[in-house]
Amino acid sequence: MDDIFCRIIRGEIPSTKVYEDDDVLAFLDISQTTRGHTLVIPKKHYDNFLSCPAETMHKVFDVAQRIGQAEMAILGAKGVNILTNVNEVAGQSVMHFHVHVIPRYMGGEGGFQITMKGQDTSGMDLPRLAADLSKAIN
Ligand code: 5GP
Repeated sequence: MDDIFCRIIRGEIPSTKVYEDDDVLAFLDISQTTRGHTLVIPKKHYDNFLSCPAETMHKVFDVAQRIGQAEMAILGAKGVNILTNVNEVAGQSVMHFHVHVIPRYMGGEGGFQITMKGQDTSGMDLPRLAADLSKAIN
């Protein structure tokens, strides 16, 4: 599998690096939803969060946490969105696992919004749903 982030890792496409170690790379998102919007990726290719082995996933999230802390410390961010999309239906456009670290500023700089509308749950068997999910967790 080869994608645009694999090419960034190999240095074939330039990126504005924020952090790098043996396993993880972080660089500014080209679209800068807000100032400082950073992507954190494993150097080894995995399609998404769900298919990434736990050890690597933990390393990626460790770096994401540190970048979020840095954004809060020096950019004047008052909050951060940590986001990873899995598959096209959820908005994933680059099929290489990545975590967005998006600083949020007072006044809502940038057009980024997450809206999650609840739905009517009266027809749902929530205890059954929870029990089914619970049984399926490895
Ligand atoms: P997704 O929609 O898959 O969750 O996020 C992919 C992100 O990658 C988008 O926010 C997009 O702006 C960013 N992106 C796509 N191509 C490039 C690129 O060549 N360089 C950088 N730095 N970011 C990219």
